[in-house]
Amino acid sequence: MTVVRTLDTDTIERIAAGEVVTRPANVVTELVENALDAAATRISITVENGGLDRIQVSDDGHGMDEADAALAVERHTTSKIEDASDVDSVETLGFRGEALPSIAAVARLELTTKPSGSVGGTRVTVDEDKTVEPAGHGVGTTVEVTELFARLPARRAALGSSTQEFSHISRAVSRYALCHPDVRFRLVHDGNTVLSTPGTGRTDAILSVYDRSVAGQSTEFASEHETNEGVLRVEGSLVYPAVTRSKPTHVYTAVNGRALSETTIRNATIAGYGSLLASDRYPIAVVGVTLPPECVDVNVHPAKESVRFTDEQRVATAVERAVSETLSGTDLSRSAEFSFDDSSIDTERPATFEDVSVIGQFRELYLLCEDGDDLLVLDQHAAHERITYERLRERAGETIESVALDPPQTLSLTPTEATTVEEHHDAIEALGFHVEPFGNTTYRVTELPAPLGRVTDGDAVHDVLDAFLAGEEPEDPRDALLAELACHPSLRAGDTVSTEEAATLIEQLGACEQPYACPHGRPTVLSIDEATLARSFERSDIRFE
Ligand code: ADP
Ligand code: MG
Repeated sequence: MTVVRTLDTDTIERIAAGEVVTRPANVVTELVENALDAAATRISITVENGGLDRIQVSDDGHGMDEADAALAVERHTTSKIEDASDVDSVETLGFRGEALPSIAAVARLELTTKPSGSVGGTRVTVDEDKTVEPAGHGVGTTVEVTELFARLPARRAALGSSTQEFSHISRAVSRYALCHPDVRFRLVHDGNTVLSTPGTGRTDAILSVYDRSVAGQSTEFASEHETNEGVLRVEGSLVYPAVTRSKPTHVYTAVNGRALSETTIRNATIAGYGSLLASDRYPIAVVGVTLPPECVDVNVHPAKESVRFTDEQRVATAVERAVSETLSGTDLSRSAEFSFDDSSIDTERPATFEDVSVIGQFRELYLLCEDGDDLLVLDQHAAHERITYERLRERAGETIESVALDPPQTLSLTPTEATTVEEHHDAIEALGFHVEPFGNTTYRVTELPAPLGRVTDGDAVHDVLDAFLAGEEPEDPRDALLAELACHPSLRAGDTVSTEEAATLIEQLGACEQPYACPHGRPTVLSIDEATLARSFERSDIRFE
């Protein structure tokens, strides 16, 4: 029985057109999505030379018979929708019938498949032309892609190094593995297994992508909200705020099973952690939203990298609430709110910190100080970061001293981080880390930077890697890294600071070249003048010039 059919012109015209395959990771994503649509429980991805030499995706899904396999590689052929009216209600990851032909157009593609109940399988090869022949295969499908962009030298030249391309692939696979925790994923690069999930739930998937300690500090959650169109479900895993990262890329998002980097969900997740995070830190979390297909348009990007919600605010609110309720349990966060009119808060004062006297500490986060008629609120962590950063920068020409770590710290990296370590090994050493391979994606840190005699936290390696991954390559690559580094030996939110220490901090901040912002650009100090307080308290009895 043939289920793959050719779409009619009307439907084809409704489909967001554009480039599907611009880099190896797109091939991997499309093939993984096909495997998931085929109800695979095991997906194995094998990649050589960052995908430039070979990509193979093998699944144990429902497979195809000969007629379907032969048709599937043609343009606009799909089993997932029938006509234009289905575009708005697709529940599968694919629907355009474009992936296989798009891949075949820029590479050599070989698809071997067998459906259940069939004795033999089929191999379809698309190179210069198409051949269809019988072939042995278990139930499921294997697609092998070689000679990617071989006929398109300009496209090939535009790609990054093998490690860069592989980091896109591993990010995509990690994202899918975390969002489909019941499927067993395996990713092999140049003969090394860099990721393997057991298909036994989200905590185990987090353990595979991160490590035992991260997984051990996470909690799974699920919540449902009724809407007029149907149920909106938010589920996933949240890593407790004791473990954080310097970039928001460790928040994994999915919409109706499609793992993609979705900013509404990501921002709402971060907002849900709220004040549990220091202002410049981000959580590790996996958050999937499932909602009726009518409430989300997946047909907005040719490579399906973004979606549009009909009611974005509703999604944001549901996610934020689910996250904050999961994390708080108790209702701490909803204490009385007191808000100032932002315009009356000045971040560019005082001119000097000479006459500032310390009143005390608030919530182990902020230092309250008096400066003439003004109340100053210092973010103790941001202020300390600025001080450390400027001191580090003064010594920028020097190599940062290292201290040996005994015993060495074992570092379990995500596949993406591991490729970054390899690529930026020299720069990482120059920063005072000594990191050596310890099998697969495990590394050993044997030396840590000790700027100004304060030993950095071993976890700073993650932040440095994130900075590289974010493509931060300023003129002096040390600059961005120094900012990350400055963050680590700095005072954390939650550190008690004595009045004396606070006074020293303020004095040191005053000596900084740019005391009003931390190295990441956030303010270190807010100043509220007494008139603002009087106005807010509606005190007409006090007059100000
Ligand atoms: P789409 O996924 O948008 O339908 P594709 O070009 O990716 O388009 O695939 C075309 C068709 O080939 C799919 O609709 C599906 O029927 C079939 N197919 C592709 N990959 C697989 C697979 N791994 N297992 C089973 N069927 C597959
Ligand atoms: Mg597809």
